[in-house]
Amino acid sequence: MTNKTYKHVTYSWDDTVADQLDPVERLRYRSNILGDDQRITNTGGGNTSSKVMMSDPLTGEKVDVLWVKGSGGDLRTSTRANFASLYMDKFFSLQAIYDAAEVKGVKTEIEDRMVGMYPHCTFNLNPRASSIDTPLHGFIPYRHVDHMHPISAIAIAASKDQERLTQEVYGGEVGWVGWQRPGYDLGLVMGKMARENPQLKGLIMGQHGLINWADDDKACYELTLELIEKTAVYITAHDKGAATFGGAKYQALPEAERETLLVALLPKLRGKVSQQSRFIGTVHVTDSVLEFVNSHDAARLAEIGTSCPDHFLRTKIKPLYVDWNPQSEDMAALLAKLEAGLAAYRADYAAYYEACKHPDSPAMRDPNPTVILIPGVGLIAWGKNKSESRVTAEFYALAIEVMRASEAISQYQGLPRQEAFDIEYWLLEEAKLKRMPPEQELARNVVIVVGAGSGIGRATAERVAKEGAHVVCVDVNGAAAGETAVSLTNKYGMGIGVAGTGISACGPAIGLGCDITNRESVQAMLNQVVLAYGGIDNIIVTAGVFVPPSKEGKVTDGQWDLTFAVNVKGGYIIADEARKIWEAQKLSGTLVLTTSVNAAVAKKGSVAYDTSKAAANHLVRELAIELAPLVRVNGLAPATVVEGSSMFPRDRVISSLVKYEIAFDEGEDTEALREKLANFYAQRTLTKAPITLADQAEAAFLLTSRKLSKTTGQILSVDGGLHEAFLR
Ligand SMILES: [Zn+2]
Repeated sequence: MTNKTYKHVTYSWDDTVADQLDPVERLRYRSNILGDDQRITNTGGGNTSSKVMMSDPLTGEKVDVLWVKGSGGDLRTSTRANFASLYMDKFFSLQAIYDAAEVKGVKTEIEDRMVGMYPHCTFNLNPRASSIDTPLHGFIPYRHVDHMHPISAIAIAASKDQERLTQEVYGGEVGWVGWQRPGYDLGLVMGKMARENPQLKGLIMGQHGLINWADDDKACYELTLELIEKTAVYITAHDKGAATFGGAKYQALPEAERETLLVALLPKLRGKVSQQSRFIGTVHVTDSVLEFVNSHDAARLAEIGTSCPDHFLRTKIKPLYVDWNPQSEDMAALLAKLEAGLAAYRADYAAYYEACKHPDSPAMRDPNPTVILIPGVGLIAWGKNKSESRVTAEFYALAIEVMRASEAISQYQGLPRQEAFDIEYWLLEEAKLKRMPPEQELARNVVIVVGAGSGIGRATAERVAKEGAHVVCVDVNGAAAGETAVSLTNKYGMGIGVAGTGISACGPAIGLGCDITNRESVQAMLNQVVLAYGGIDNIIVTAGVFVPPSKEGKVTDGQWDLTFAVNVKGGYIIADEARKIWEAQKLSGTLVLTTSVNAAVAKKGSVAYDTSKAAANHLVRELAIELAPLVRVNGLAPATVVEGSSMFPRDRVISSLVKYEIAFDEGEDTEALREKLANFYAQRTLTKAPITLADQAEAAFLLTSRKLSKTTGQILSVDGGLHEAFLR
């Protein structure tokens, strides 16, 4: 690594790594290290390219190929597969089509049509779709191009006197091009500037970001860092210190007070913004966010909105700022102000849509804010899943930094509303949305699975995760719950977006320890869920206890109490505490309690367990009445699931095999012995097949899904068919 030192960006280029790579991998490498520093570019933002001489797969001749980050993906995590490849000569030949159009220029029909032409230039059958920014790279007459969204450069680009500032900071080595919606025409404009001004190393793109170039890839990387560093140094020299954002108007609440407030507020807020479709929340509280929300200028600046189009597609054109005094006003006042603020926001959004729409514009989208700012408290972001919600929080946090810098060196300005609309409702964006697969059954839902550390609970957690749920894995064994959550997160990925405070920085699954027989423990668990995701939708309780009786078939009074505490009272406490969150959200939910076919079959030797499960069956019916119409409550009644069950430890399996005179070998592993016992039990059922964890998980999912949306207060037996357990 060289000894280049920067204060405002991290220098990460390592020749020993880069020199091992082919030119396309070097581009991937450069992109990863650029995307790794949030001060260089935001998640999913910016793109990079290299022009590489390669052998044509048909003719074997050397041809010039443009490798450019394609549509979707993120620089930090990009692999080679994220880059599109285009024959340069074919790319240039497209200009004849563009020039032949009668009406051309920014936002004309031909501009959008050009996007459909790029696939015709594809080199070597690369399936990655080219992005809208492809011409920005193709027309720049240099071998390597970096287009970034650095906070410092956007700060210049979003300032009132951006052209003068560009000159002042870069002294002629970087030019300026006014805001123009990205596309073919912007590529032509920038290519012309670069050709006609060979002294230029890059351009500040008005209201947008930075683009720069070089004929060597490492030089291009270093130039990107140098230009960002230069701007950051200039901005730091002008920093307003305590006078930033007009100084503090309010004070931040102490952390414990803030958390208490958020726990009470988030479910209510989630319900209010989720009237059209459910949102998942992220709480983001940093010193910088607090400085902004507590400031005198927050109201004015929030109204101007985010500037970089890349930011506002997630944050919406502006956030909802609530002017609430955390020092003198209470929660009721905050709720009243939020209610009024949301109504005004939606009306404002509808007015913006009406004023800016074109005859062919897509229908108005959800008018609720995705970013809510509360003095003393911080920033709350909403998205269709945790990843989106985190990236939304990240983008507004970046916008705050842009405003801080811009207000230090000039005056911050937003994109004109019509331009913002033409990005937000761009037909190409709409086409992208339409191409997305339909949402999964449990998308936008937060599902708590109690007992997720093993057996049916773990299988259920895996089943609902497969349907797009955010899964809260809860178990009395917190470490086991954590393991299930980690395995789900590894399987489905953290997603994008670097934001979230404390547990709110989580991914699609979290693991929590909880003793469901203890009300405080249940409250503490639910509080964490609310801070992590903003609320809850569904709860599935699979936790249960079977205390093996003595040889005489007896349990002690203490064991009796434990059996009822876990199997009956635990389910009740969870329902009773979750009810407060469901009622605050005013969104429909479901609760599934796992009972047992033993509830209906009287027999010798398990009186405490069987009686507790009969009580649990009736608890289902009582809760179904109590929680209606908001929450459906159903019971799942499994029979002997032996597979992977903690209720069937090795010695219990062996004693059962002995009891039923089933042949086995002591050397066999536990799961093989369990299978033997399961097959024996299967013969006692009508369907003659072993009952698996997957069978139970499927039923728990069905009761949670909309597929059984008219079913409540019922017990669903998944027992292979035991006629003695038929309910009458
Ligand atoms: Zn951009």
